[in-house]
Amino acid sequence: MIAAIDLGGTRTKFGLVDRGVVLESSSCDAASHGAIRAHLDEVAGLLENLLAGRRLGFGDCRGIGISSTGIVDSIRSRVLTTNGKYDDAVGFDFASWGKERTGLETRIENDARAALIGEWRYGAGHGRDDLFMVTLGTGIGTAAIVDGRPLVGPGFAGGNLGGHIIVRSGGRPCTCGGRGCLETEASGWVLPTLIAEHPKAESSQLKKLARPGFKEVMALAESGDSCAREILDHCLRVWGEAIVSFVHLLGPARVIVGGGLMNNPGPMLDSFRATLRQNGWGSLKDVEIVAAEHPDNAGLIGAAALFYDSENNTARTSQQQNT
Ligand SMILES: [Zn+2]
Repeated sequence: MIAAIDLGGTRTKFGLVDRGVVLESSSCDAASHGAIRAHLDEVAGLLENLLAGRRLGFGDCRGIGISSTGIVDSIRSRVLTTNGKYDDAVGFDFASWGKERTGLETRIENDARAALIGEWRYGAGHGRDDLFMVTLGTGIGTAAIVDGRPLVGPGFAGGNLGGHIIVRSGGRPCTCGGRGCLETEASGWVLPTLIAEHPKAESSQLKKLARPGFKEVMALAESGDSCAREILDHCLRVWGEAIVSFVHLLGPARVIVGGGLMNNPGPMLDSFRATLRQNGWGSLKDVEIVAAEHPDNAGLIGAAALFYDSENNTARTSQQQNT
């Protein structure tokens, strides 16, 4: 069993995961700025409560897996850069903290890469060794498995910055400091701007909602609201075209799409497949595009999957000992 922590933007999820199955989980408010150690100590206490409910302790776990925003050095267990969240996590020694607080080995990975590792080991990517995953949410996370290994690169950013590929030259300013990134054309955070800038916004029901999300955009598009329809079609086209670019770059066997915006996967996947068929090169037109199997628990299952090899070896060893 792995104690898993998913450091999100507004909530931190935590739970107990056994070989791809979340046994139990809960969440708490994310850390305020400058409080990463105190926050992790709090989460460790909450994990201890979950374990105590099963008459267990940290000694019964194989390790602590952490899924984190930002570029993560998974070898030295450090967050290298963030984008306005958990600024004091940069440079923090997660491995030493885990050892001191719980006695356990601690592994940490970028949230998009962890989500893909989770899907690769226990979900929609199982059995394939060349995968690309895009997580559509407030921001856009990406990750790749190439030839059976996570794409990492010398600076640990390999495959992770797909939300910041430039899709419109000189476009809107992005949170990363650049302009015209994929996230500035279609993402959760840019949606209010897409609505505000739309010429038909004044006559749209979207304007009357306090905080419209993609769920509302989809529902209104269905009901005939032309502003919502045009915004949705724009985003689907931009995401689909980005998937074409990622497929052309990496030539994966399968593309997995996850994230909070995938609340109506059927029509979204159909749209992405049509865009790929229209624009794909040769046999890449037919690369599979599937929904993530663990959209709600991607962070926890991914964080726990960082221990896949040792957990499965342990399982095999104990099986051998029992026979
Ligand atoms: Zn950007």
